[in-house]
Amino acid sequence: MLKINENFLELQDSYLFSTIAKKVSDFQQKNPNVKVIKLGIGDVTLPIPSSCINAMKSSADELSKKETFKGYGPEQGYDFLKSKIIEKDYKSRGIDIDLDEVFISDGAKCDTGNIVDIFSKGNKVAITDPVYPVYLDTNVMSGRAGKYDEKTGMYSNMIYLPCNSENNFEPDFPSEVPDIIYLCFPNNPTGTVLNKTQLKRWVDYAKENKSIILYDSAYEVFITEDDIPHSIYEIEGAKDVAIEFKSFSKTAGFTGVRCGYAIVPKSLMGYTEDGREISLNKLWNRRQCTKFNGVSYVTQKAAEAVYSEEGQKELMQNIKYYQENAKIIRDGLREAGYTVFGGINAPYVWLKLPEGVKSWDFFDKLLNEAGIVGTPGVGFGPNGEGYFRLTAFGSKENTIEAMNRIQKM
Ligand code: PLP
Repeated sequence: MLKINENFLELQDSYLFSTIAKKVSDFQQKNPNVKVIKLGIGDVTLPIPSSCINAMKSSADELSKKETFKGYGPEQGYDFLKSKIIEKDYKSRGIDIDLDEVFISDGAKCDTGNIVDIFSKGNKVAITDPVYPVYLDTNVMSGRAGKYDEKTGMYSNMIYLPCNSENNFEPDFPSEVPDIIYLCFPNNPTGTVLNKTQLKRWVDYAKENKSIILYDSAYEVFITEDDIPHSIYEIEGAKDVAIEFKSFSKTAGFTGVRCGYAIVPKSLMGYTEDGREISLNKLWNRRQCTKFNGVSYVTQKAAEAVYSEEGQKELMQNIKYYQENAKIIRDGLREAGYTVFGGINAPYVWLKLPEGVKSWDFFDKLLNEAGIVGTPGVGFGPNGEGYFRLTAFGSKENTIEAMNRIQKM
């Protein structure tokens, strides 16, 4: 008789986005004349830079000719893209990365989810709270999370690192030392960042405790302030303790095209039960070669074009557009009397609700009184209660109108 992986039964159904969709559709049916403005979306809305599209078209043409056709590519990605990444994202910041430390993938969701394959089930895992749910659910699926407690909204074996206005969204070291630490900065959902000094504390902590940091910097392109690291490897010693995940999704509008990469330094070690040191780079390489057959040539050519002069110019126009929206949201909410976080180095603005207001109640109020859709903070974890996420991925006109409506509420 077939047995299932019962860890899957420990997963909590995410009602977040389905509940939002249902509430919005009910509202729209009752109020057909109200133009609903959606500031809950985490997907980009502006088109992909034409440099990338042209690269896709010409590489597709190559595939149509016998002389230039390509079949399976390297599982780790083509050197033309890996060397561009090394030059533009790392060397330019004084960081040395080797070609065989770069692994091209179909995105940061897959990488941050799949990476758990190479770690023992016995590892203790820390996540920030609120959190991008993939880190939690993939550890539930692989049996590391323990049992779910309905009352607390937490799993028994996970270590939660609260991030809230009291600690200025800088996670503190937990009382129990984790083996695996997920950090995501600029953060989804809070839009907050760590500066170099703050991140260095975590790098030193991981080194001291022989832990690993899984660093997701999918939103790195949104950083505007000087002291904020664009890569964890800007921090001394990080190559001994961190894997970094990046994505072209938010950078260049590749959410549908699918391309990202992971950096797994060769100096990064894990340990066997009997204390032998094993290279994580070798394990990840083996994992990818077995379970992944590479990203399409056309996609990698499009990603390469991200680094061209024209590509950079085009994509930064889009990023600036989103950054302006984030500023409109920040300023608008402040004028309306709210306390806001994030939105300076990220496309997310994290709004602190007045004392005692629950995030779902605020969702209903915002929808019913202003026709605006956002995301309740509690949907990202227990410490998101009392907060609300608005995103900068809407149109400028809608964003301005949304702030006008909120100010009149
Ligand atoms: N990491 C974080 C923190 C995200 O918020 C998202 C998407 O919303 C992703 C990763 C997914 O990235 P990708 O599209 O590259 O899979």
